[in-house]
Amino acid sequence: MATLDSKIPAGPLADKWTNYKNNINLVNPANKRLIDVIVVGTGLAGGSAAATLAELGYNVKAFCFQDSPRRAHSIAAQGGINAAKNYQGDGDSTFRLFYDTVKGGDYRSREANVYRLAEVSANIIDQCVAQGVPFARDYGGLLDNRSFGGVLVSRTFYAKGQTGQQLLLGAYSVMNRQIGRGKIKMYNRHEMMDVVVVDGKARGIIARNLVTGEIERHSAHAVVLGTGGYGNVFFLSTNAMGSNVSAAWKAHKRGAYFANPCFTQIHPTCIPVSGELQAKLTLMSESLRNDGRIWVPKKLEDVEAIRAGKLKPTQIKEEDRDYYLERRYPAFGNLVPRDVASRAAKERCDAGYGVNATGEAVYLDFASAVTRYGKEAAHVRGLNENDNTLVQKLGREIIANKYGNLFQMYEKIVDENPYETPMMIYPAVHYTMGGLWVDYNLMTTVPGLYAIGEANFSDHGANRLGASALMQGLADGYFVLPYTIGDYLASDIRTGAIPTNTPEFDAAEKEVTERLNFFVNNNGTHSVDYFHRRLGKIMWDKCGMARNTDGLKSAIAEIKALREEFWKDLKVPGSADEYNEELAKAGRVADFLELGELFAKDALERNESCGGHFREESQTSEGEAARDDANYTYVSAWEYTGLPSEANLHKEELVYENIELKTRSYK
Ligand SMILES: Cc1cc2nc3c(=O)[nH]c(=O)nc-3n(C[C@H](O)[C@H](O)[C@H](O)COP(=O)(O)OP(=O)(O)OC[C@H]3O[C@@H](n4cnc5c(N)ncnc54)[C@H](O)[C@@H]3O)c2cc1C
Repeated sequence: MATLDSKIPAGPLADKWTNYKNNINLVNPANKRLIDVIVVGTGLAGGSAAATLAELGYNVKAFCFQDSPRRAHSIAAQGGINAAKNYQGDGDSTFRLFYDTVKGGDYRSREANVYRLAEVSANIIDQCVAQGVPFARDYGGLLDNRSFGGVLVSRTFYAKGQTGQQLLLGAYSVMNRQIGRGKIKMYNRHEMMDVVVVDGKARGIIARNLVTGEIERHSAHAVVLGTGGYGNVFFLSTNAMGSNVSAAWKAHKRGAYFANPCFTQIHPTCIPVSGELQAKLTLMSESLRNDGRIWVPKKLEDVEAIRAGKLKPTQIKEEDRDYYLERRYPAFGNLVPRDVASRAAKERCDAGYGVNATGEAVYLDFASAVTRYGKEAAHVRGLNENDNTLVQKLGREIIANKYGNLFQMYEKIVDENPYETPMMIYPAVHYTMGGLWVDYNLMTTVPGLYAIGEANFSDHGANRLGASALMQGLADGYFVLPYTIGDYLASDIRTGAIPTNTPEFDAAEKEVTERLNFFVNNNGTHSVDYFHRRLGKIMWDKCGMARNTDGLKSAIAEIKALREEFWKDLKVPGSADEYNEELAKAGRVADFLELGELFAKDALERNESCGGHFREESQTSEGEAARDDANYTYVSAWEYTGLPSEANLHKEELVYENIELKTRSYK
C-alpha cells in the first residue's frame, strides 16, 4: 500500500543530500547494463534524465509524442534559469535561493527538496556551459544575469528570450550522443497510454505509435515520467498546444497520488485574450519586468477615452498614471512574484481600469527604460544626453538587444510597435505547481514509478518563482533522479528482463484499445475542442485567479455533467489505426475532464489562500492572500479510488525547521 513517507534523510539541511549520495545502495557500474529504464518525456527534465541515466550505464528507452525531443514544450521557455552563483556579488547564496523559493511558494513546499535544488543549481550552469549553451555574457565576457520576480538579487542566467530552446538543444545533444552509442533507444511520435504495474511495481508502459496507430508494449525495471504540466486543463494557456495531463493521470489511476492539483500559476504578463475563437495564449517573458513598468490610467474618463480610440496611452501625463505595483509594493515594485502581480492586475481591471476593449488589459511600458538606457549610452560615448532623438535611438537599441525577439513576437501578434506604444498584457494560465506526489528520491507512491520536472509537485509550493522551473527540471534530470533511482534499482540486478507477455500487460493493452475504439465509434455530434473549450471556461471562471466555495461547488457539478456529455456526444473522425490527431486529443481531454474535477475538489478543500490559490473567503483587509498555517501547512496528496469525487485525501505535514513561517510581504 502506498505511503507518504517522504524519505528525507536525517541530519542538518546542508548534509542531507551529501549523506544521501554517500549512503545509497548504488548499483555497481558493471551491473547497470542489466537494468532497463523507461523515460517518458524528453523535455528538459526527461531529456536530461535520459541522457544522464544512459551515461551512467543503464539501458534507456525514451518516448515523446512530438516528432523530435527538440519540440518539447520546454523549447518555449523564454526568460531564464536561476542559479545561486552570486556572480553579481549581490549577496546571493544557496541559503538565499532556498529561502526565496520557500517564501515565494508561500511556505507550502518541502524544505529538504528545495534546499537540494538550491545546492545543485550552480552545477546546472556549469554543465550547460560545458555543453556549449550560449548563455548571455556581459561586456567582459562573463556570464550575465538578470532579475526575476520575488527576489532582490540578480541570479537569472539567460540566452536572450530563448533560454529554454538553448537548454533543450544542450540536453538533446547529450541525448543524441547516447542514442548514437546505442544506450538510448528513442521513440518519437509515441504516446504513453498507460503504466503497467506488476506485483505492485511499475514495470512498463503501453504506448501508441501515433503515425501508424499501432499499440506497443514496453517493459523496464523502472519508469520515469517527465511529461510536463497540465495548464491546458484551462484550454487557453501559454503552454504548448500538446501539453497534457494524460501520462500523470494514468499513473494516478494506477496508484500514484496526485498532489496539490489546484496549485496553478497565472502569469501576469501575457498577451490578452482577443476573441472567442482563440486557442492559444502567448507569454511575454517575466524578464520584461526588469525594465518595463506596469500601469493603468488613474482616471476612469481616460480609460474610456482609450477604449474609444480617442486617446493614446502615450498622451497620458505621468501624474495621471497609476503604477499600481510600485504604489502597493514599494520594496519589490514591478518585480513582485507572479501571483501578487496577477491579482493586482485583476483588481485594477475589475475596478474598471482595464485598457482594452474587453477591459482585461494593463500597460507594460518601456518608455522610462528607453530614456534611461539612452541617456547612459549617450553619456558613455560622450554624446549629447539632451538630444532626445539620439537618446531614443540609443535606448531602443539597448532594449532591442535585451528583448528584441519578444518585442518582435508582440508586434507580429498584436500589430502594434511596442517600442512606440506600451504593450498590453493580462494574466494567463502558465504553469502547474501541482503534480504527482514524489518522495525525496522523486519516486511516486507506486514503487519504481518516478516523476520529474513540471510533472511532479515537489519544489515550488503554492507559487513558482520565475526561472525556477528550468532549474528544477534540469536539477531533477541531470543531478537528482539518476542518482536516487539507484537506491531502488539496486535490488533489480538479478531480476532479468521484464516480460511483456503477462496478464498485466494484456489487461492494460485491452483497456487502451477499448477506449480508442470507443472514441472512433461513438459518432456523437461535437468535436474534442468543443468540450475542451467549455471545460476551460468553467475552470477559468470558477477555479482561476479567484476561487470561492459556491463557485468551486458549481465547478465540480458542471465538470461532472460535461464529462457525461463528452462520453455520450463526442465525435472523433477517422480510425484508430492511422495518424489521427483528433483521436489523440480525445484521450487527453477525457483525462482533463477528470483532473478538472479533482482540481476543483482540492481547491474547495483548501480553505485558505496561499500563493496562486486565492480563496476569496481568506483575504486580508488589503485584499492580500491570507494563509491559514494552523490548519493547512500540508501537501494535499489525493489517492484515486474510482472517481475524482471519491478521491481520498492524504496529508503530508510540512515542517519548517530552518525557515520561520511568516506572512509573505513584498512591501
Ligand atoms: C511560454 C513559457 C515560457 C516559460 N519560460 C520559462 C523560463 O523562462 N524559465 C523557467 O524556469 N521556466 C519557464 N517556463 C516553464 C518551463 O518551460 C516548463 O516548466 C518546463 O519546460 C517543463 O519541462 P518538462 O521537461 O518538465 O516538460 P515539457 O518540456 O513539457 O516536456 C514534456 C515531455 O513529455 C512528453 N510527453 C508528455 N506526455 C506524454 C505521453 N503521454 N507520452 C509520451 N510523451 C509524453 C512530451 O512529448 C515532452 O517530451 C515557461 C513556460 C512557458 C509556457
